[in-house]
Amino acid sequence: MNIVVCIKQVPDTTDVKINPETNTLIREGVDSIINPFDTYAIEEGLRIKEKLGGEVIVMTMGPPQAESVLREALSMGCGEAILLTDRNFAGADTWATSYTLSRGIKKIGEVDLIICGKQAIDGDTAQVGPGIAEMLDIPCITYTGKIKDIDENGFTALRMTESGHNVIKSPLPALITVVKEINEPRMPSLRGKMNAKKADITHYTAADLACNLESIGQLGSPTVVRKIFAPPAKGKGEIFKGEPADTAEKLAAELKDKGIV
Ligand SMILES: Cc1cc2nc3c(=O)[nH]c(=O)nc-3n(C[C@H](O)[C@H](O)[C@H](O)COP(=O)(O)OP(=O)(O)OC[C@H]3O[C@@H](n4cnc5c(N)ncnc54)[C@H](O)[C@@H]3O)c2cc1C
Repeated sequence: MNIVVCIKQVPDTTDVKINPETNTLIREGVDSIINPFDTYAIEEGLRIKEKLGGEVIVMTMGPPQAESVLREALSMGCGEAILLTDRNFAGADTWATSYTLSRGIKKIGEVDLIICGKQAIDGDTAQVGPGIAEMLDIPCITYTGKIKDIDENGFTALRMTESGHNVIKSPLPALITVVKEINEPRMPSLRGKMNAKKADITHYTAADLACNLESIGQLGSPTVVRKIFAPPAKGKGEIFKGEPADTAEKLAAELKDKGIV
């Protein structure tokens, strides 16, 4: 089973700051970590490999500093790490990010399963996993909380919903995005950390991936950020007290008055 886990390097803070001129995140001076949801993706990949054999390849698109999160993934037990890095990848929106990662996965060759986190804690769109699946034309199961009965032909996934879960059978190759309920990520061993420090990391540029330059980075990003602002804080609202029938009447009158109904 060849498994690719896509991980993103994110700022180790929830207090993200925006550059008002470029409307992008200010990443300088902030420590970076593996996107927390992606550690669950790594763990799931490792568990499947331990059961069925094969390899777990970890991949990220980012600047050269993103090597540090790849080394962390190697220290957990991934066998190979790939960094997609090129100045031409900069300024990518989720479309261009998905395209670039899909080119990286194609470059590997035969891949059975791709695992992503459910979303990144900085960008938060949850679009990249489904975007990769679309570009590779393979099935995608989002919000996976459990994988059952996996073998070389396919698997059953429990897809978490607000009210329970869907049971979905899928053939391979496929892509899943995972939620925290799926497992408990392992801590890297000391030996794993030592090996990861000196491990080779494969670098691929846009040319290595034969990327169409108009599909990557800022040039390949159809998203335009017009304005970024903090939404006004919600007021306390109004509480109607009294008998239910009177309260309902007051509420209906108020909603009518405000033109809501
Ligand atoms: C106009 C525009 C310009 C931007 N410019 C920049 C920029 O210059 N630099 C920058 O860092 N960001 C930039 N961004 C943000 C960037 O688009 C997103 O961070 C990125 O596309 C991932 O989206 P997300 O964070 O919402 O990830 P999600 O879709 O929420 O991530 C879901 C999962 O996809 C995988 N994943 C996501 N991103 C990566 C990745 N890079 N490598 C591997 N796996 C990944 C992970 O498994 C993750 O858990 C820009 C965004 C816009 C709209």
